[in-house]
Amino acid sequence: MSDRRGFLKSSSLALAAGAAGVAAGTSGCATAAAPAVSSGRMADLPKAKGPRLVVVGGGTSGLTIAKYAKKEFPKFDVVLVEKRDMYSSCFTSNLWYAGLITLENLANHSFLDAAVNNHYIYFNATVTGLDRAGKTLATNEGDIKYDYLVIAPGISYDYDKIGVSDIDTKTALRQIYPGGFVSPTEHVTLNRKIREFEGGVFIQTVPSGNYRCLPAPYERACLIASLIKHNKIKGKVVILDANPEVTIKAKGFHAAFDELYKGIIEYKPGVAVKGVDVAKRTIETDFDSYQFNDAAIYPNVRASTLIEQLGLLAPSTKSNQKEANIDTRFYNIIGDTSVYVTGDSRPHPYSKSANTSNTEAHYVAKVLAARAQGKEIAWSTPETICYSVVNAFPMEAISVKAHYVYDAGKDAITGFSPDTKVFDNRDAAKGQATLEWAKGLYRDMFNA
Ligand SMILES: Cc1cc2nc3c(=O)[nH]c(=O)nc-3n(C[C@H](O)[C@H](O)[C@H](O)COP(=O)(O)OP(=O)(O)OC[C@H]3O[C@@H](n4cnc5c(N)ncnc54)[C@H](O)[C@@H]3O)c2cc1C
Repeated sequence: MSDRRGFLKSSSLALAAGAAGVAAGTSGCATAAAPAVSSGRMADLPKAKGPRLVVVGGGTSGLTIAKYAKKEFPKFDVVLVEKRDMYSSCFTSNLWYAGLITLENLANHSFLDAAVNNHYIYFNATVTGLDRAGKTLATNEGDIKYDYLVIAPGISYDYDKIGVSDIDTKTALRQIYPGGFVSPTEHVTLNRKIREFEGGVFIQTVPSGNYRCLPAPYERACLIASLIKHNKIKGKVVILDANPEVTIKAKGFHAAFDELYKGIIEYKPGVAVKGVDVAKRTIETDFDSYQFNDAAIYPNVRASTLIEQLGLLAPSTKSNQKEANIDTRFYNIIGDTSVYVTGDSRPHPYSKSANTSNTEAHYVAKVLAARAQGKEIAWSTPETICYSVVNAFPMEAISVKAHYVYDAGKDAITGFSPDTKVFDNRDAAKGQATLEWAKGLYRDMFNA
């Protein structure tokens, strides 16, 4: 059941781990300061009643840190700054497309309730600048002074890495063929497309690099194929994978492709997108052109552009995905122990996934609480638990559970710990466990 060596070999996460191992050595040089942008007024917030911890981003990472930092150190006066006024989760959105859950499952969670339940302030604003010397965060709703700042803004797409540099094509791809890996409105569009798909070729691309949620594009392909099979549609899903092999849970996905979706899923490894002709609905690769009727084009990912905007980028030797220049163990910006970056904007080779961000956030909350009291704590590994539903009728899933190894000598994450396990045999029990896992995560982020 568990093929850890195979997992390590095939997972792009392992490849990323190698690269990061070389490069994650602390440089000791401080990151260039961000331009001191101010909104010109103070935000309309109560006076801080203790050390103010400002958390940017109400996703998996930010919601968990806001809650648990307050629990760990109740003297913290916590403000969560989030630009969205409605929460909707990325994780399990693939299940909605297949009709296995409703949109309410993804979106029926309130930032206001999370804040009231956990004794912090939800401030609905967009971060626009940072003055680290003055410990002031600028937002479109005014400036906020902080003692500690955590920035957890997720990812942005990097279309240039798939050969799409002109702004017209980028805009067309974002709007007509969205990847479905960043915003809820992409999920709504993708849901409509999948429901309206009448036949022909649906292309799902898989980027190279440490992209958000390694198994999710393959899971989505399986669920679209499941609908095609169930509804007897004359169509197929073509997976164009920039990687040489399915990046995670390869055995379980291949079993699903071969046993459930023969003639419906065509898997093409080592096929990187090099350009897209939107008008002709054609994807260009090194050797071939692929015509499609519809598509979900998932470009490479990078850290949220906010990290660059705030002047927090790691040197390219440390991250080729424009991630933040943070200390490997403690997540603070190198040379600045009051500013931290967590979640999918981190340069660590961890899986960019919800369970990883959530468990990492529990640890970072402890780091912040300890440091506010003049102490340090030992590093602890995040936990990646990730279910992938490969069949909708009946609902069956495969899964992985991973931990990581930190090498203090190299100051780097060097790979998976020996207890890492892949559960490649699909079954209904893991299908049900997928739903329970998501419910548990929502409880951990939103409930008291
Ligand atoms: C289709 C899909 C399927 C997935 N499946 C799984 C799965 O099965 N298992 C799993 O573990 N993970 C899964 N994931 C991945 C998971 O959802 C993410 O990796 C995780 O949520 C990342 O958390 P985060 O907090 O780093 O980023 P996010 O959750 O993206 O949160 C970032 C937040 O920052 C806010 N923000 C950004 N910029 C600003 C700004 N300037 N000012 C204020 N706020 C800002 C954003 O609005 C957002 O709310 C899936 C993702 C997708 C898209």
